[in-house]
Order: sequence, then C-alpha cells, then structure tokens
Amino acid sequence: MGGKTKIARTVKDLRKFVGKWRKDGASIALVPTMGALHPGHLSLVKLAAKKADRVVVSIFVNPTQFAPHEDLARYPRDEAGDVAKLHDAGCDLVWAPAVEEMYPEGFSTSVKPGSAAAPLEGEFRPHHFAGVATVCCKLFSQVTPDVAIFGEKDFQQLAVLRQMVRDLNLPLKLIGAPTMREKDGLALSSRNAYLSANERAIAPALQAAIAELASEVANGVDIKSAIEAANRKVRNAGFTKIDYIAVADAETLKPAETLGERPLRVLAAAWLGKTRLIDNIAV
Ligand code: AMP
Repeated sequence: MGGKTKIARTVKDLRKFVGKWRKDGASIALVPTMGALHPGHLSLVKLAAKKADRVVVSIFVNPTQFAPHEDLARYPRDEAGDVAKLHDAGCDLVWAPAVEEMYPEGFSTSVKPGSAAAPLEGEFRPHHFAGVATVCCKLFSQVTPDVAIFGEKDFQQLAVLRQMVRDLNLPLKLIGAPTMREKDGLALSSRNAYLSANERAIAPALQAAIAELASEVANGVDIKSAIEAANRKVRNAGFTKIDYIAVADAETLKPAETLGERPLRVLAAAWLGKTRLIDNIAV
C-alpha cells in the first residue's frame, strides 16, 4: 500500500488508477459500501486485501435504493472517519462519487433484478433491489474488479447480485463474507446508531429468536409453528413491528415449507420504533 489512501471522485480519475494497476498486471477487489463504516465493513476490506493485489472501497449512499419515506436524508455519513479506517484496513483507493457523477442529467437506464428480488425485502421495499442492482452494475463496470466482496448481513442482496452476475455474464466473482456481531449477538449495522439505549437493549432479541428458529428447523420442528413462536418472542421482547420472519431456500429465497436437501436460511426484518433491523442465519 504505502502513503495516503487515495480518493477518486470522478469516473475519469477512477479509470486512471485502475488503468495503471491493470497495466501492471495487478488484480482488483471491490468492496461496495454506503459509508459510516464499522468493523463489519472493515472485515470485508481485509478479506478483499487477501483476494486481490489492489482494493477499491466505494462509499456511495445510493439514493435510488431508498424509497421516498425511508431514511436517505438521515443516513449516517462520516467520510473523513471512513477514509482513516480504510487506510488502516488495507484499502488502496476510495471511490466516492457525488450523486451527480453517478447519475448525471439524462441518466435513465436501470437493471431489473431477477426472481430472488421478489420475496421478503422485495415485498416491503419494492424498488430497493432495482436500485441496488443498477448501482452495483455501474460500480462493476466503473471499477472492473476481478472480485467483489459483499456481507451475508444483507443475504438477499447477495443472492440478487449473484443472480445478476450469472444471468448477465458479468466478468467478476462475488464473494460473501460472514456477519460480524456485537458480543450480545446484534449484527453490526450503520443503522444501529439510530437506536435509543432502551431499543439497543432489546435489539439482540431478533438474532436470538432467528438463531433458535434455525436450530428448531434443523431439528425437524414444523417450520410454520417454529416461525409463529419466533414472531411471539420478537414481539414480546419489545419490537414494535415485524415485517417478516421467514425460512427460505438459501439460493432462490423462495419460502421453504419443509426441511429438504437444499440449504435453508432464516431471514427477518423488524422495527424498533423508527429503526428497521434485518438479520439472517443459516439453518
Ligand atoms: P452497507 O454500507 O450497509 O451497504 O454495507 C456494505 C457492505 O457491508 C454490504 O456488503 C453489507 O452486507 C456489509 N455489511 C454490513 N454489515 C455487516 C456486518 N455486520 N458484518 C459483515 N458485513 C457487513
């Protein structure tokens, strides 16, 4: 690495860095983020540094993946803090375009994500994955990475992007990385900053309930009744609303009714006041 972590703010600048690395025969890893970086993000950057010679981390709070009523305006931002953390984690280049650079006037093309985008998050955030797929497609063609690293924290996102890369023959490999958690089990998330002290104390109950659900399903308990029990636990813990607690096929994200040969995943989204938390765990 050496020296200061560089920041590119225009596609033209980005291409200069990438072009030079390519000429030198270096491989490139990309870690897409929306900033407000925590140790979970940094674990992806460290993994990226093991997978390629050069690491690009994008920081872009993508407006098109937020619905008008969602938290785009209050989403936490701390570019200076992020850049300092990235330097220590082994990032070579921060790709931090302005919204106008990513979506210049006249921009009108988008990627329609595949079937993995339809259930779960797709039902509650209908335009979310189109925004994610489109921005990731742009990031992939801007950075031209050999590999891109995504967290299993956003498990359905990873499935949707795997489907996109496969269906569109995009020339890169996606790597999923495990979810980093607080000691009490709460998945690290930039949105945890929204939680009050009381909400923060309740928050780990979501992970506890889905972990229990996963082990019940693995032990042959009826999926429907195990899901009902998990809903009760999460509601009793103090969550104000549950969008879904589901057991799904780990690749297609279609609901699973029985334990079979294919890997299953438990996925959940629930609200603590104004904060929406998501989590998931393998069966
Ligand atoms: P975000 O900035 O929230 O869009 O996340 C950027 C990337 O970091 C995504 O691939 C996330 O899945 C991943 N990520 C978020 N939280 C965690 C976590 N707790 N552990 C590991 N990866 C995470």
